[in-house]
Amino acid sequence: FEQDIDTLRTWDRTHVWHHLTTGQAASAGVPMFVRGEGLTLWDSDGKEYLDASAGGVWVTNVGYGRKEIADAVYQQLMDLNYFAGSMASKPAAAFAEKLLGKMPGMSRVYYSSSGSEANEKAFKMVRQIAHKFHDGKKHKILYRDRDYHGTTLATLSASGQAERREQFGPFMPGFVEFPHCCEYRSQFGDVEDYGLRAAAAMEEVILQEGPDTVGAVIIEPITAGGGIIPPPSSYLRQVREICDRYDLLLIMDEVVCGLGRTGAWFGYQHYDVVPDIVTMAKGVASGYAAISCTVTTERVYEMLQEAEGDTLGYFRDISTFGGCLASQAAALANLNIIEREGLVKNSARQGERLLAGFRELADRYALIGDVRGKGLFLGIELVTDRQSKQPVDERISMAIAAKCKEHGLLIGRTNRSLTGFNNILNFSPALTITEQQVDIVIERLDRAFHDVTEGM
Ligand code: PMP
Repeated sequence: FEQDIDTLRTWDRTHVWHHLTTGQAASAGVPMFVRGEGLTLWDSDGKEYLDASAGGVWVTNVGYGRKEIADAVYQQLMDLNYFAGSMASKPAAAFAEKLLGKMPGMSRVYYSSSGSEANEKAFKMVRQIAHKFHDGKKHKILYRDRDYHGTTLATLSASGQAERREQFGPFMPGFVEFPHCCEYRSQFGDVEDYGLRAAAAMEEVILQEGPDTVGAVIIEPITAGGGIIPPPSSYLRQVREICDRYDLLLIMDEVVCGLGRTGAWFGYQHYDVVPDIVTMAKGVASGYAAISCTVTTERVYEMLQEAEGDTLGYFRDISTFGGCLASQAAALANLNIIEREGLVKNSARQGERLLAGFRELADRYALIGDVRGKGLFLGIELVTDRQSKQPVDERISMAIAAKCKEHGLLIGRTNRSLTGFNNILNFSPALTITEQQVDIVIERLDRAFHDVTEGM
């Protein structure tokens, strides 16, 4: 850039409308990152940070500054910069083949460019199937009260997190909420039994609505924005069974969990279920390109072929940037790295180390009520006392995240206005994290807890 950093900072403050913040007051304080390598970020003042939040929104699985991906994108842009959504292309074919190799039971890949768009596509598939095979009746989609599925109106209509939604209604009809499965806040003793009861709560909603009106259920296998919530293993298996009982499609939103984040290629694979539709985005190209996928079984694909069969001569659907060859080339290079460097295994291994570190902190800091998660997708829930599980005041979790930043560690935290909960810290470093870096995360977090709790 020709301009100096102060000029750019001024333009940022006066022109840029930041996501997740409320305008200029907030943007005055946001850092401007200017360089990244691996897990390290540098801001415009030269300060160095260890990023344990994968870009703040769980996006990079392979870390910053990967030349291999940049080269693949460059090469594809030079060979052919074309939008081949309705044509055949080399990178789309090669990525789909490789991706499906990690997803037994799944068969077809539809490309688009964001997590929201991938979920929208899944919803439209449900509607098309309802129209073709159920006289339009089985059109309703069930979602959970702490899950998030996107920023568009349909995906927001399918998201819980009441306060986030409150200014955007009226919502699309046909989306119905059911209660989440949050073990930590369950009132029930046995965890697996709790999973079964939570699934039964979903079934109750299906019966209330009438199974002949419900077409699908959408679930985050491990809830992200709602507070890093892994289910008991009985839960998703039971959800699958209930979906089969009432002929519902099971949609897994792997926008965050996908591509190794949780220590398996996909989050649902921890739970021994095969969904009908899987959506994914962030880790697909680790943020090097905007790309998302809606992946289906062959059965779903065939139903949609049949639904669309009488429309030869015009098409029903398209995503301009979903056909972007350079994005697909980035996705292929990203997947090659995850595979070659064994990052799924590393996610599981380093996740265990990080979790063990959190448990040690929990022995020393009483405000840690729960530590949980899988792989490198972990959360710490803060409470005023462990008996009542009363969430801490929002200022405490904010103060800990701010202290971490001061000590050169970037972490995430839930935000009440987005999730209803403001007391959960979250951790999702790039899957390339080393043992030494895990220890740095723990050490800096320990300092932040110490600083904040000292004065309490
Ligand atoms: N699903 C989940 C689980 C998400 O966390 C997000 C984004 N945070 C989305 C969908 C939407 O993805 P995008 O922002 O790329 O549209």
